[in-house]
Amino acid sequence: MAETHKTKMLILGSGPAGLSAAIYGARAGLEPIVVQGLQPGGQLTITTDVENYPGFRDVIQGPWLMDEMQAQAEKVGTRFIFDTIVDVDFSRRPFRMTGDGGDVYEGDTLVIATGAQAKWLGLPGEEELSGKGVSACATCDGFFYRGKKVAVIGGGNTAVEEALYMTNHSDDVTLIHRRDSLRAEKILQERLFANPKISVLWNTNVERFVGGGEPVGLVGLDLVDTQTGAKSHLALDGAFVAIGHAPATEIFKGHLDLIDGGYIEVEPGTPKTKIPGLFACGDVMDHVYRQAVTAAGTGCMAALDAERFLAEQEFEQIAAE
Ligand code: NDP
Repeated sequence: MAETHKTKMLILGSGPAGLSAAIYGARAGLEPIVVQGLQPGGQLTITTDVENYPGFRDVIQGPWLMDEMQAQAEKVGTRFIFDTIVDVDFSRRPFRMTGDGGDVYEGDTLVIATGAQAKWLGLPGEEELSGKGVSACATCDGFFYRGKKVAVIGGGNTAVEEALYMTNHSDDVTLIHRRDSLRAEKILQERLFANPKISVLWNTNVERFVGGGEPVGLVGLDLVDTQTGAKSHLALDGAFVAIGHAPATEIFKGHLDLIDGGYIEVEPGTPKTKIPGLFACGDVMDHVYRQAVTAAGTGCMAALDAERFLAEQEFEQIAAE
């Protein structure tokens, strides 16, 4: 039978942002409920080695880090529920959401931390070689390609930034773009063209990610020229797909202000949305930094702001009585 779950702090999403909000919220006595979505633990559960999350001298595994964060959140008093939210009502408080099994969730405050996902090309070899030479995050995995030959696919800010970032590790970086001009900001383009370690393959589409070797890993890309149809093969050690991110905000359309292709709009430098008591943190509102540690930081900020909001509400109520 469908149940109603009530809390002072409802959190949607269980990546580093949601879990950090939960840890802070639980320790503040808000007895948070985290509704875990389709990918509990978020994007880190699909990465392997993590070397840039502070506090660990040795390489740790993304899924392990998320298990630890969840265990920590549980230990301090967070409740976790698996569900997919299918309906939201932000028009009044408590905020009210409905899960796909009919359960209702009510939060005096709401922290949205549903994250974003890198878009993939959906081409042969891409999924099989993911983590074995194919990645969607140069900042996360670039270090493993020190001195190797790599390519970045895409023509926007992310692709150009990832190509530039990869020159810290590799002297041979190819940017592969399907058109003859980039979408990225001018300043980034200037830096790209000025960098002798980067070459650009224009009007080129990837047709297949090619694996080989023992253990099996990426050995190259099959390419096609969009103008001439000419096919070619580019031998590589690593390929980064950088064709954009999609924030998980479909369900919030029409209920919240979304900007820049679907990211939740917040007051700059804070996790506050225009709706009092409703906060957004992590990749669902941040299209610039997108790191586990920045997501965790904004999750903490959301919990602190939620706590303050509730305290102010309580104060106003007492003053009115
Ligand atoms: P964008 O949507 O800006 O760019 C995606 C790129 O991938 C485009 O060049 C597009 O090609 C290409 N692409 C898309 N689909 C395919 C496909 N199927 N095959 C081949 N190529 C494809 O995404 P970004 O992640 O770069 O940026 C997203 C947002 O985040 C933007 O608003 C951006 O400005 C912002 N951002 C800002 C940063 C900053 O301010 N420092 C850093 C990173 C992102 P085409 O050009 O032909 O459409």
